[in-house]
Amino acid sequence: MKVEYTALKRNYELYENEYHKSVERILKSGWYILGPELEEFERRFAEYIGVKYCVGVNSGTDALILAIRALGIGTGDEVIVPAGTYIASVLGITENGATPVYVDSNEFLLMDTLAIEKKINEKTRAILPVHMYGQACDMDTITKLANRYNLYVIEDCAQCHGATWNEKMTGSFGDISCFSFYPTKPLGAFGDAGALVTNDPMLHDKLKMLRNYGSRIKYYNESIGVNSRLDEIQSAVLNIGLNHLDETNSMRKKIADRYLERIQNTRIAMPTINKLATHVFHLFPILVDDQMDFQEYLLKNGVKTQVHYPIPPYVAECYRNQGYVYDDFPRAAYIAKHEVSLPIYAGMPDEEVEYVISVVNSY
Ligand SMILES: *Cc1c(COP(=O)(O)O)cnc(C)c1O
Repeated sequence: MKVEYTALKRNYELYENEYHKSVERILKSGWYILGPELEEFERRFAEYIGVKYCVGVNSGTDALILAIRALGIGTGDEVIVPAGTYIASVLGITENGATPVYVDSNEFLLMDTLAIEKKINEKTRAILPVHMYGQACDMDTITKLANRYNLYVIEDCAQCHGATWNEKMTGSFGDISCFSFYPTKPLGAFGDAGALVTNDPMLHDKLKMLRNYGSRIKYYNESIGVNSRLDEIQSAVLNIGLNHLDETNSMRKKIADRYLERIQNTRIAMPTINKLATHVFHLFPILVDDQMDFQEYLLKNGVKTQVHYPIPPYVAECYRNQGYVYDDFPRAAYIAKHEVSLPIYAGMPDEEVEYVISVVNSY
């Protein structure tokens, strides 16, 4: 049997007719940018997360860049970020001229919240937790530290749409929270898309201006902005995806539960979930001694896998000037060298899930 790592086509086929109807409606409407479909999505997504405002943008990376810009964080400022994350979490910081200050990972493959306080100094402006793989970070500790030291919290929610910490939705803790709707994410568009959410009316206003050339009133430009708008077609796609988000999250959760229950192999460490967190399993990360050997074995048996992420941002070529080496953050380095993500997506056939379990168990 052949098992693809992911199959967006199957995901699309789940709600094919709804997507077609809605995209056709937008095409025929003659209104493609900053229209009613985006307004509806922004209103409904804010409501889903449990915050007042949402601003749609072009991508998750743009959301992170604009969040940091809107908070006035720039040159000379420091932002605390996990060492074990995808590089886009850090791009928003460096794009604004600020400095990323990394903390190592914990046993949940998330930012080690006990390591944050040591990194806080007079230059620190914000903490940027990332709910990696779909599991919520410990937002109690992060919120407490932010309040004590008067820091902003910017949540990177690119992988966790619908995950909760202590029964409260991720994305509702931060001063601003950033979402990606890249096609593979728990809520995905059919192209690039992203959003920011906030409870602050001033930030909401500023973000709407920044995404639209820095202009509130047409041809009157008060800030140096960008063009980063979520278009009507992608908004329509996301409105459908949002209707089914709890359903698609539970489809992946069912697969994850089967993996957790039935994969039994002493050579493999399964993901663990914090007591107060929920996990939406954007990815299913396991740890194994010999990453390459395990991937090759699975591939020989027809199962494709991926690694998230092989080169952590603190050792990325583009950040060589920061001067870090792998061992500076040993647990993040360990994850990079030992993590393998098993196939998991809404629409993955049962027999493929069963096959992955049997191949992994016989490794
Ligand atoms: C996908 C992702 C991003 C970037 O989102 P894009 O929409 O691809 O720009 C940021 N942070 C994390 C953790 C991600 O997984």
